[in-house]
Amino acid sequence: MTRKYTVDYEAELNKEQLRVVSHPGGPMLALAGAGSGKTRTLVYRVCRLIEDGISPNRILLLTFTNKAAKEMLDRVQRLIPHGRGRVSGGTFHSTGHRILRRYADVLGYSSRFSILDREDASDLMGQALADLSKEVTQRRTPKPRLLVDLYSFVINTGRDLEKVIVDRAPQYLDQAEIIAAVFRRYLERKRKADMMDFDDLLLNWLLLLQRHASVRSELKKQFDHVLVDEFQDTNRLQSDIIDSMLGPDRNLMVVGDDAQSIYAFRGADFDNILGFPDRYSDCEVFHLTLNYRSIPPILELANASIEHNTRQFPKMLEPVRKGTDLPRCVTTDSPEAQGRFIAEKILELREEGIPLEDMAVLYRNHSHSLEIQVELTRRNIPFRVRSGLRFFEQRHVKDTVAHLRFIENSRDELSFSRMLRLRRGFGLRLVAKVWNRISGADSLQTLRETPPRTHDLPQGARDSLTGVIKLLDEMLAPAFQTQPGEMIRKVLTEFYRQWALDNLENARSRIDDLDQLALFADGYKDLTSFLSEISLLNELSGEETTGGTTDEMLVLSTTHQAKGLEWSAVFLAWLAEGRFPSSRAEDEEEERRLFYVAVTRARDFLFLVRPLIARDRYRVDVLLDPSRFLLELPDEACDRVVVREQQEDDTEAQPEVTGRYSMPSFFDEPSDTPSSDDDVN
Ligand code: ATP
Ligand code: MG
Repeated sequence: MTRKYTVDYEAELNKEQLRVVSHPGGPMLALAGAGSGKTRTLVYRVCRLIEDGISPNRILLLTFTNKAAKEMLDRVQRLIPHGRGRVSGGTFHSTGHRILRRYADVLGYSSRFSILDREDASDLMGQALADLSKEVTQRRTPKPRLLVDLYSFVINTGRDLEKVIVDRAPQYLDQAEIIAAVFRRYLERKRKADMMDFDDLLLNWLLLLQRHASVRSELKKQFDHVLVDEFQDTNRLQSDIIDSMLGPDRNLMVVGDDAQSIYAFRGADFDNILGFPDRYSDCEVFHLTLNYRSIPPILELANASIEHNTRQFPKMLEPVRKGTDLPRCVTTDSPEAQGRFIAEKILELREEGIPLEDMAVLYRNHSHSLEIQVELTRRNIPFRVRSGLRFFEQRHVKDTVAHLRFIENSRDELSFSRMLRLRRGFGLRLVAKVWNRISGADSLQTLRETPPRTHDLPQGARDSLTGVIKLLDEMLAPAFQTQPGEMIRKVLTEFYRQWALDNLENARSRIDDLDQLALFADGYKDLTSFLSEISLLNELSGEETTGGTTDEMLVLSTTHQAKGLEWSAVFLAWLAEGRFPSSRAEDEEEERRLFYVAVTRARDFLFLVRPLIARDRYRVDVLLDPSRFLLELPDEACDRVVVREQQEDDTEAQPEVTGRYSMPSFFDEPSDTPSSDDDVN
């Protein structure tokens, strides 16, 4: 029987994709390379199922972010505007959350249970640790944050605690028993307080399915079709959940690419996708072998890189598009020059007709975007940061800068309050009390001249105030007035470094951020110019404008957050050893997969950029080694370009292109013979 469909599936999909979309059901797997249309095929399959009469609310679409799910379902809505009902879509966590609200009582929670974020979880773990203080006083125990990491990894992978400790924190192996006791205490406390952490949203979901037969049979009946995107980044827990959710027809379609698995560090396991055919021996396997996204040279570069991984599942991937422009590997003098090059190039491409929102700057870590954000702001290029907060809106940056702001403008009550509330014993009420006494024309001066004991404060707060005044006094040393970077270092060494370690999640990377911030501030001749520059950055904030004006905006993102997306032009910055691959990364192959994800985001233009020299944490200029991911590329994979900025000139970068890359002469040998061609080698 032929049917009439709203969507012209034959025109929109290639043969193999069409086969996926019209397959009746059962377990289905598409393990295929980047840009082969996996996500697109899922969207069309959802449409087709609905057009074939499946009720939308009996379809579950699981994706890696809620935003991705929403975009896919919006697409479905546009393709079949008449489809009634809503498809359930979202992340595993948000889906688990919805289900648990309904069945919480079965597990002994109330339906109003609260959710702990990572920071709350770390606090609670700290309390659990304190509860066992007798047992642990004799030994050095891991910090709550590390405990939360270990706990989470165990939950998500289902691996043995001792094995996880051996892998991730071997120095604590002799304390495995105590750690297990702390975890038990943590579970008790959570339950008593009617709270679930993020991992519970998965774990409790699985518990419902495994231990409560009546709920299981209800849940198994809820969905006729389950579809999962980015399956390579699921963990054991997630794959068991899906398995137990399936109804008698076992209509499960998963798509993914093992080469893009980038969350092993959080427990993802790409054996889930590689082992899918073993787990579902009757599964139908589909081969999507055409790449619709990138022009051939970009694809070739990506393939040449991922070949260096030994653990990979080789896949066919043929480019559909034409185009011969080689990707560019660009060496710039410094991080600032890298920012200038990227900004220049973006403007140039925009002149050529590529809208800003079709370009992205990607990097390994959020802190790598600093100089780039500054440069874009200077040139009035609007941008949106996908990787969470903008650099200067992050809590640790604001905490630190509050000290400088108060020195700059002592009428700034907000900064005063922020600074003081970091200290022991100070809440809003006591802050207000002190503020009322000191506020005036020169609150800073009054504060310094008023002895803390004359404020009517409890002892703890009084000591804290003494600490604050001492720090401010030191920051006011004449030598520092022209060195905002030194002021930041002072805040760090005297107070914030330790405070962050004791109180914040990811403290080490936040401290790295702040070290970077200090280096950045060294570039300013005084406090005023530094603070006004960063205020301006905040004003041009992208996230806030998303509701109102939707002017075109460039995207800045970490590579992790860029998964699944695509742009016409992609700039990948900081391709230096230690930055990308990250010096913290334990698994080189996972870093290389991350590089693969980054480069396969590009449709037409790919720029792999690196600074030649950067300041290290001791403020010494050091030569950075190029990323191994650049060095291992074959010569013909890209055009190697060295960008030199001329002294005395305005800040324009002078990109010039030559066929082959060679290092600037001083790089290879400590030569004293003058280089023959100065600008470009
Ligand atoms: P990734 O592995 O990066 O997630 P993917 O396999 O999910 O990639 P998609 O994002 O679905 O790939 O598709 C990549 C691009 O190719 C999209 O712009 C998509 O619209 C386009 N595309 C895919 N298949 C076709 C097709 N048959 N005809 C036209 N365009 C297509
Ligand atoms: Mg995709």
